[in-house]
Amino acid sequence: MMKKINSLYIHIPFCDSICDYCDFTKLQYFHNFAVKYIESLKQEIASKNIDYKLKTIFIGGGTPTSLEDDLFEDLLSYLSTLVDTNTEYSIECNPESLTKTKVEIMKKYGVNRISIGVESTNNNILKSINRKHTFEDVQKAVELARREGINNINLDLILGLPNVTFNLLEKDIENILSLNPNHISCYGLTVHEHTVFFINGIKPPKDDVLRRMYDLVNQRLTEAGYEHYEVSNWAKPDYECEHNLTYWRDEQYFGCGLGASGYEGYIRYTNTRNLNKYIKDYKEKESEEVVTLSDDKTYYIMTNLRTKYGINLDFYKEKFKEDLLNKNREYLEKLFNSGLAYIQEETNSLICTYEGMMVLDQIILNLI
Ligand code: SF4
Repeated sequence: MMKKINSLYIHIPFCDSICDYCDFTKLQYFHNFAVKYIESLKQEIASKNIDYKLKTIFIGGGTPTSLEDDLFEDLLSYLSTLVDTNTEYSIECNPESLTKTKVEIMKKYGVNRISIGVESTNNNILKSINRKHTFEDVQKAVELARREGINNINLDLILGLPNVTFNLLEKDIENILSLNPNHISCYGLTVHEHTVFFINGIKPPKDDVLRRMYDLVNQRLTEAGYEHYEVSNWAKPDYECEHNLTYWRDEQYFGCGLGASGYEGYIRYTNTRNLNKYIKDYKEKESEEVVTLSDDKTYYIMTNLRTKYGINLDFYKEKFKEDLLNKNREYLEKLFNSGLAYIQEETNSLICTYEGMMVLDQIILNLI
């Protein structure tokens, strides 16, 4: 019997302008396309036949708040049957497109978490990467969300943007902390082909520089009471992102919208990234993969080791009929001795330390 799926990701691919580093599935906002897109999206959501309340919904993008108010309300109203007061309901937004009306609509339909793309708090840096907001817009957006009663706020920062020195990074952290968010995500810059960054020959910082940036962020955020609970994420107690934990626990989720990925039953899929195809037929897939037991094991290790909860060894044994500890005893001993991982006895879990999370790719390669 298929396990009940408790999480839904929805992708809104439109943005008011395109940032120089962006590799997400996104395109410039255009009203007629947006209207047709929301129609296809609703059909896709209906096709999932969800007749119960979900634990988490995450509307990401692109920029979901770039939708015009009536379309935005149309979508949220459509989703309202899937939501109750226990649903963690998040929406991503850019600071400049978070208006009072948008927040009122969110509040009306039960959205209780807002994730704001800050990326840098230095206005010159923001301008240089073609972001349209200033740090003052971020301050206003956070104030607005709280005033309207949405108090669970995540702020995103990118580490390693061009010209961000350690001094500027210190200032970024200070500025972010001054807003007292519940959750902070910091992702290292990657430069993808076909982005303006790539065309302009911009390179991400060297590994050791990025590592020192992570160390600085981790030190400051930990001192300020945030817990490092996933490689790139810090949260105040009780404010971990339940939706993202679905991915990191390797649990199943519905994915709807252009280029959205999902995991249902034994299938992992990614929807088409072609807007015309999606509008014509939401069922178009870019890829579809039947997950074998061995793939599942790989995903399980790759995702679970990202978090402070690690891999529960009893659960792993039952699921994969394999003793992870015995199978990799020699290698794991090395990790334990060098302080990269440990066994938490109360839960019988294999957990990476902060140091281990910083070299996670290597650890995973040795375990799969
Ligand atoms: S707003 Fe976000 S999704 Fe849109 S272009 Fe910028 S980074 Fe990409």
